[in-house]
Amino acid sequence: MLIPYRPATMSIMRSKPRFIIIHDASCMYPEIEKVSIDSKLPQTFSSRLFNWIISGQSDLNYHYMVERVGQDYESFLGRPLDRLCIYKDIPDQINSRAIHIGMIGKYDKQIPTPRFYLQIAYRIIIPNMHLFGIPYGNIYFHNDLSEKHKECPGLFFKKSLFMSKLKSLPIR
Ligand SMILES: [Zn+2]
Repeated sequence: MLIPYRPATMSIMRSKPRFIIIHDASCMYPEIEKVSIDSKLPQTFSSRLFNWIISGQSDLNYHYMVERVGQDYESFLGRPLDRLCIYKDIPDQINSRAIHIGMIGKYDKQIPTPRFYLQIAYRIIIPNMHLFGIPYGNIYFHNDLSEKHKECPGLFFKKSLFMSKLKSLPIR
């Protein structure tokens, strides 16, 4: 099945992004175990298909998706970077300029590996910090900003560990 592209159904990001927000699968479709477990097969397309069937949106509610593929991790585009993701629980002044990253997996069950932290930092966060001048202080976990999603991105995804991996890489 090919999901149609529907860019007109998504709001445009009118200013350059200033924030990065990290999620796990717990806030996307908590009831669908298939997209939340660590699978040997890529799950981004399955997530997109569920999203299309459930919400009629052809793009995921994350700009980037990160998941394990075979022996390593890969990053995919979930939604065009110039379109807003929808989070009514996140203050609009932040969400209107936010890049969202969704990690396949539930990190209240799985413990992320150092390589996983590093891959997200290296492939997604550092380039966006560099291109858009985003400071370290503007990198949030969903639960930093939301009263509704206190469990996202999961207890085992540690912010202090993630930030130390991020700061181990040069920004330019
Ligand atoms: Zn979330």
